[in-house]
Amino acid sequence: MFSERMKNLSPYVPGEQPRNRKFVKLNTNENPYPPSPDVQELLKGFDAGKLRLYPDPLFTDLRQVIADRYHIDPKQVFVGNGSDEVLAFAFYAFFDSINGDLLFPEHTYSFYPVYCDFHGINYKKLPLKGDFSIDLSGFLASGKTSGVIFPNPNAPTGMLIELAAIEELMEKLPKDRVVLIDEAYIDFGGESAVSLIGRFKNLLVVKTYSKSLSLAGIRIGFAMGDEKLIDALFAVKDSFNSYPADVLSLAIAEIAMKDVAYYDGITERIIKSRETLTRELAALGWEVLPSKANFVFARKEGLDGREIYDRLREEGFLVRHFNTDGIRDFVRITIGTEEMTEGLTRKIKEIF
Ligand SMILES: *Cc1c(COP(=O)(O)O)cnc(C)c1O
Repeated sequence: MFSERMKNLSPYVPGEQPRNRKFVKLNTNENPYPPSPDVQELLKGFDAGKLRLYPDPLFTDLRQVIADRYHIDPKQVFVGNGSDEVLAFAFYAFFDSINGDLLFPEHTYSFYPVYCDFHGINYKKLPLKGDFSIDLSGFLASGKTSGVIFPNPNAPTGMLIELAAIEELMEKLPKDRVVLIDEAYIDFGGESAVSLIGRFKNLLVVKTYSKSLSLAGIRIGFAMGDEKLIDALFAVKDSFNSYPADVLSLAIAEIAMKDVAYYDGITERIIKSRETLTRELAALGWEVLPSKANFVFARKEGLDGREIYDRLREEGFLVRHFNTDGIRDFVRITIGTEEMTEGLTRKIKEIF
């Protein structure tokens, strides 16, 4: 009944999406603020007749909007059903085992090894430095490689690599293998590497609507890179599903990306709350890694991460814990609204 391939799958486990109980949900890095009000307006007036036809398989309009926003050519943009799908296509298009292992940090987005297993790609996890930052020299010292992937800022640590260091890394890495930078969290305080795609034809930058644009529900992600890389992603898409992004989601994505002022505003609030939470936790004796994302990764000496997770859950606060060697004592806490963050700090003071 089942294929051998299916029997060998080891799927990614997403953070809990609670259905019954009301939690303060700080476990999957969703944005606590609504998307641009223009999205609400669009939905009010949306003509259902537009759903009769298939969507544009080339995503022409959205690619133009993204290209305008990032000062690149629409030919340098690919769109997919969430950046998870863009990543899955990129793994298929660029990485294999013939050229060596795919390299990524030991503690990083746990979907990467899942895609590797799915596509039959060998990989090597490179240890983080003592301060939990990514060790870029590891990417250079690993010999023959099929490519490099890492999120910037990294997840679940939240730690950022500065653009100058990325540029230096790109100069040193082989030009014939793809370097994929997953910028799911870059808008919360980092500088995008998209400015380098003209110079480095092997650089692919992937972004998502799910975090800073507050649209995890529509499932839109995109990649930016040299036209040849983008063409390869289209070839993979059209070998799998010609229409991964629907008419309504594409329309929402177009209108949202244009409302820069609104998103700058909510991003500013999230950054402020992040700094407040970091300060408050530090004052209570917690260690908080320096984060440039919409979450913090924190631990308290003498407490196990699972225990923190359990006790907060009992009190109605959902955070994320990874049962993984090396980071077991940490919890990852998404930055919520000011009220959510205050409530959490109060509760932590009370129970720990
Ligand atoms: C959230 C996240 C994604 C997935 O984004 P979607 O567009 O919702 O699929 C990709 N990479 C990292 C590092 C993430 O944290």
